[in-house]
Amino acid sequence: MANMLYEGKAKKIFETDNPNEVVIYYKDDATAGNGAKKGTIVDKGIMNNTITSFFFDLLGKNGIPHHQIEKLSDREALCKKVTIIPMEVVTRNIAAGSLATKMGVEEGYVLARPIVEFYYKDDALNDPMINADYAEAFKLATDAQVAELKAMALKINDILKAFLAERKVRLIDFKLEFGVDKDGKVILADEITPDTSRLWDWDTNEKLDKDRFRRDLGNIEEAYQEIIKRLTGK
Ligand code: UDP
Repeated sequence: MANMLYEGKAKKIFETDNPNEVVIYYKDDATAGNGAKKGTIVDKGIMNNTITSFFFDLLGKNGIPHHQIEKLSDREALCKKVTIIPMEVVTRNIAAGSLATKMGVEEGYVLARPIVEFYYKDDALNDPMINADYAEAFKLATDAQVAELKAMALKINDILKAFLAERKVRLIDFKLEFGVDKDGKVILADEITPDTSRLWDWDTNEKLDKDRFRRDLGNIEEAYQEIIKRLTGK
C-alpha cells in the first residue's frame, strides 16, 4: 500500500513512485461547519471524483492549468504534486450562505458583478476571511500570485457559469484552491464538486449541492447524481 501523505475531511493523498505525482482518493465522509456536523453521503467519493475530473477537463480545454493528470478509478485520480497555497478562493455570482447573512439579503440576491473572496485555510482558526494584502504580509502568497488567483478565479467563473447555464444549472458560488507546481507555476488544485460549490436548478432554484446535507434537506445522493447527469448527459 502506498504511503499516505495527508488525510483531509473528504480526501486522502498518497505518494506514488514519481516524486512529482500523487494519487488523490475521494472519501464518502461529509462535514459541515468546519467539522461540527459529520456524516457520510453514499458514493459521494465516486460522484465527486467524476465531477472534478469533468470540470478539470473542461477547464483545461479552456486554457486553465490544473493539477489533474488522469482519473485512475472510481475514487482515485492521479495528480501533479503541488504545494497548496493556504488560501480558499471563493467566487460568487449570487448571494447565499455566509454572504447573504453578512449583508442582510435574501439568498438568491443577484450581485451586480462577481465577488472574489479569500479565506486563510486554517481549521484551528475556522478559516477566517482575509483580504489580498494579508497574503504577502503573512507570507501565504506573493502579491503577484494573489493577482493571478483572482484573475484565474474570474476566468474559471466565466467558463463554468456559461457551461452550467446551458445545462440549466445556476452557478451561485464556489471555492477553489490553488497550488504551486515543481516549476513554480500557480495551478488550480483540489476539487470542484457540489461539496465546494452551490448549484441551483435554473427553473426551480432547487439546491443540487452540499447545502442539502448542511441543512438536512434530504435527497443528497440524488442531487449529486443529477449534477452528473446534467454535465455528462448520463
Ligand atoms: N466553501 C467550501 N469550503 C469551506 C467554506 C465554503 O467549499 O470551507 C464553499 C461553499 O460550498 C460555498 C462557497 O464556498 O459554495 C461559499 O461558502 P460560504 O462562505 O457561503 O459559507 P457557508 O455558508 O458554506 O458556511
